[in-house]
Amino acid sequence: MNYARFLTAVSAARKPSPIRILTELQQRSPPSLISLAGGAPNPNTFPFQSASIKVKNGQTVSFDEAAMKRALQYSASNGIPELLTWMKNLQKNLHNPPTASYTSENGQMDMCVTTGSQEGLCKVFEMLVNPGDNVLLDAPTYSGTLAALQPLGCNLINVPSDQHGMIPAALKEVLSRWDPSEVHKPGSTAPKVLYTIPNGGNPTGASMTTQRKKEVYELARQYDMLIIEDDPYYFLQFDKPWAPTFLSMDVDGRIIRTDSFSKILSSGLRIGFVTGPKPLVDRVVLHIQASTMHTSTFTQVNKTFILHLSLFLNKHFTCLVHMQSHFLLSVAEWHSPSAGMFLWIKLKGIADTQQLIMQKALEKEVLLVPGGVFMINSSDPCPYVRAAFSLSTPEQIDEAFRRLSSLIKEAL
Ligand code: PLP
Ligand code: PMP
Repeated sequence: MNYARFLTAVSAARKPSPIRILTELQQRSPPSLISLAGGAPNPNTFPFQSASIKVKNGQTVSFDEAAMKRALQYSASNGIPELLTWMKNLQKNLHNPPTASYTSENGQMDMCVTTGSQEGLCKVFEMLVNPGDNVLLDAPTYSGTLAALQPLGCNLINVPSDQHGMIPAALKEVLSRWDPSEVHKPGSTAPKVLYTIPNGGNPTGASMTTQRKKEVYELARQYDMLIIEDDPYYFLQFDKPWAPTFLSMDVDGRIIRTDSFSKILSSGLRIGFVTGPKPLVDRVVLHIQASTMHTSTFTQVNKTFILHLSLFLNKHFTCLVHMQSHFLLSVAEWHSPSAGMFLWIKLKGIADTQQLIMQKALEKEVLLVPGGVFMINSSDPCPYVRAAFSLSTPEQIDEAFRRLSSLIKEAL
């Protein structure tokens, strides 16, 4: 893979921040090293001494003074070493990526810690997308992705999808505008980047089948594209075995995967990670050096992270969405998702849900997201709403759907 052809001028121009290199050197050195470098503040002057956190399984995680000093201090931009090691093992166990066994650096799998997957995504887009570039995605899509991509001035091309995600035949049709043998020619407008949410898509709830992933990956090979696999709902698949990921199929090193702990550990602690070919992860880390410097060391050191996650991995998710709301059946339609937190509901006879939700729904004390915000062109009429079923009890969901259905009936 020639990764240079994918980089924006800004990303290619990034150079290591000299003081960050020293911080990372110091982190790998024995405690006997006397460092007058770094520019790290003295944690003895910080007001916090120790901490203890109670975990729901009854255990307590304690930070003694030494651990607390470390947790309060600057750390390496790619992540603290023990967390990176733990995450690389997790990634190998879950996905066994072919790139993990590469011996040369080019294409070899690497990872970095990010402040939520949103930070990783935003930095990946800024690394790869130039003004005027054609970028492929299946819309409706996560509004945070649109917020990060649209200001880059790219041309977003919608690949049709259904309840099983992106449709390979439709992708093939979109790509047929370009000749695969000409994508490397100077001035080619062929897309270099494809973005998708493979499980429990936001807002559609759609999950891609293994066969579709294989076909999309083959098309990416044919047109030499990178695939951004944004998978924050991977751990929220309702049934095991969990679906094979794009990362698990990545023989070339063309997958950049973003994972998130927001839905299983905490969304407020802000932690996620990027997995991909080393030359690309390195560019993301250079961007981190120049912006956030690193994800909160306290968050990373926090052992509850690992404890809590291992608890969660064993837990079977109860899915509320198989419940059929008799209130909604006559006025709406939807597909039951197999992962994630969202129901994508089409309201029958309503051309655009924007006004209904933003003006009338609050009066009835029910709130949903009007579907338009997930569209490439947010002003196009959209008959859908997104309902999140992650926070409410089955009784509350039932009552919310009763209110929604009376709202729809009044509007018709
Ligand atoms: N990607 C998708 C598809 C999401 O739905 C979300 C959160 O809603 C994110 C990324 C951002 O997650 P994080 O909290 O890890 O930044
Ligand atoms: N500006 C200046 C002048 C600094 O010295 C530093 C830290 N060395 C920063 C910004 C970054 O600080 P922070 O850790 O709050 O991101």
